[in-house]
Amino acid sequence: MNRNKFLFIFFSITILLFSNNLNAQNKAFKCIVLGNSGGYEGNLSSYMLSNLKTDNYICLDAGTLYNGIKLALKEKSFGKFKLPKTEKLKPEVFIMRNYIKGYLITHTHLDHIAALIINAPDENRKYIYGMPHIIENFNKYIFNWTIAANFGSEGEGEILQKFKYITLPQGNECPLIETDLSVTPFYTSHYNNYLSSAFLIRSNENYFLYFGDTGSDERERNNYLSEIWDRIAPLIREKKINAIMIECSYPNEQPENMLYGHLNPSLLTKELNQLAKKVNERDAQNVLKDLKIIISHIKPSVNSDINITNTIKYQLENANNLNVKYIFPEQGERIEF
Ligand SMILES: [Zn+2]
Ligand SMILES: [Zn+2]
Repeated sequence: MNRNKFLFIFFSITILLFSNNLNAQNKAFKCIVLGNSGGYEGNLSSYMLSNLKTDNYICLDAGTLYNGIKLALKEKSFGKFKLPKTEKLKPEVFIMRNYIKGYLITHTHLDHIAALIINAPDENRKYIYGMPHIIENFNKYIFNWTIAANFGSEGEGEILQKFKYITLPQGNECPLIETDLSVTPFYTSHYNNYLSSAFLIRSNENYFLYFGDTGSDERERNNYLSEIWDRIAPLIREKKINAIMIECSYPNEQPENMLYGHLNPSLLTKELNQLAKKVNERDAQNVLKDLKIIISHIKPSVNSDINITNTIKYQLENANNLNVKYIFPEQGERIEF
């Protein structure tokens, strides 16, 4: 090998290793996907999130818990997890009780809280965080001895104090107790101004933006998403947003009057273009390049011969003028970003 060729290979490898290392340093979060579909009771929206260094998780929505943890254990998504020798608990329950420090709930549609209700008797004391309407709904409609016993910390009848409610103030950052994370909540509109939420989660200087169900500003005739894009545009300029998880429930073929406050690939693409313009109007085409956009809440088809995920993948990639990096996680998977 001549000297020039050797130097070329040496520098190429060095640059490759260096850039990989940069990427690795940039990761701040790990997320265990307990459930990610917008249908079917065994796989509903629920994501355990922590920073990379600890196992102190917050659970983003809680449609599925036990079933998702079981699958994640099978897939070794908790890494080298081993039940302590003297522990009698099932590993799924051990993880639910000890790893999850609290629940962050975007809205109280059943597909986002079903497992929280069902597993409440087997849980230990922890926190439920939500915007005022969420806490009010838990009080009035859920933990009230009608739908379930009052496992909450206020409200009707005997109060079992299993879950302490923490009301999150719109737009203000609040620490998530016993984790290394904090959250800033925002409203989103999920059909005719029915309110859902998005959570901007921070670990040191890194951020992750998580959306519950949401419609687009254009369809919902308001500017909730626009306000969120305003808030995160500077963070994107500073390269502090590690990923965005957002729903894309239906393919483009779903009739517009049957979207029920959800997004499709075309509406999501439009919204991301709005964000790009706010980041940098003159260079909008390039500012979101390689930004990780994790797709959630795909409504499965009731027909066995239709794979909706593939259709949505195709439609998003086909319209991907911004070259964002779409990610379609599987239930049970661990993703890092
Ligand atoms: Zn919903
Ligand atoms: Zn939903």
